[in-house]
Amino acid sequence: MELKLADRVAVVTGGSSGIGLETVRLLLAEGVHVISCARRQEGLDQARDALAAQGVDVGRLVSQACDVLEEASVARLADMVGDRFGRADILVNNAGQARLSTFASTLDAEWEAELNLKFFSVIRPTRAFLPLLKVSDAASIVVVNSLLARQPEPHMVCTSAARAGVQNLVKSLSVELAPAVRVNAILLGTVNSGQWERRFRERAKPGQSLDEWLAELAQEKQIPLGRFGKPEEAAAAIVFLSSPAAGFITGAALEVAGGVSRFA
Ligand code: NDP
Repeated sequence: MELKLADRVAVVTGGSSGIGLETVRLLLAEGVHVISCARRQEGLDQARDALAAQGVDVGRLVSQACDVLEEASVARLADMVGDRFGRADILVNNAGQARLSTFASTLDAEWEAELNLKFFSVIRPTRAFLPLLKVSDAASIVVVNSLLARQPEPHMVCTSAARAGVQNLVKSLSVELAPAVRVNAILLGTVNSGQWERRFRERAKPGQSLDEWLAELAQEKQIPLGRFGKPEEAAAAIVFLSSPAAGFITGAALEVAGGVSRFA
């Protein structure tokens, strides 16, 4: 299938690790000019080096440190993209991380921080890049969200509630920004990435490998496909939804969760 992505301009937030980094890799392979951001420049530089070491052509990759929660930082990123390319065709709102906590253990300040992260990691880049997206003849936004939006987990209460709100926002944006910009979401289950590697280091039994730990967790979580997702599997869904090949899809939520969802 032809994704028709060559020479498009894509902005990927949280592009230095995990799902974001795989999205950057797939977009570069499609001939896209990719602007990747994360808070730490060092992480972005390491990601670029890792891609280059794997033989990926990084000539079309521009990396710039940016905290998506800081308005001025996002504005600087959008200004750079505007000066350099004059437009953006794709915005992937991917930056973020989950918060593990029950209702009883979540303080007000933690609720505020989580709601701020989940909402403003979408609101700020979307608002800043909208003028550049509107210049494109095939503009699209993909929001990386979680199945928790539909199926909350008791140990992730505030993340789940925030995810549900973001999904509601995606639907509103898909109507308000149509027909100029398509807006879709992917709903992830558990995908092996930086977040899970960090949890592995904190929680695995002595001598247990990452693969063994993930296999045990996949069994505990009763994932029908029997394993965690790979970052490139999440990235493939993001790239498809962002591409002109998905030109009649907007307001959709694509589950990439190995069959965990109980929704028909
Ligand atoms: P990783 O931890 O591997 O990558 C997160 C990326 O986001 C890094 O590049 C990080 O870089 C960047 N980032 C974090 N906060 C900010 C910020 N405020 N501004 C800019 N960049 C930021 O995570 P994943 O690949 O697993 O996660 C990607 C997205 O998918 C996240 O939103 C996550 O919540 C979501 N998700 C993941 C699931 C999973 O199982 N992996 C399940 C459900 C949802 P830096 O630290 O330098 O800023």
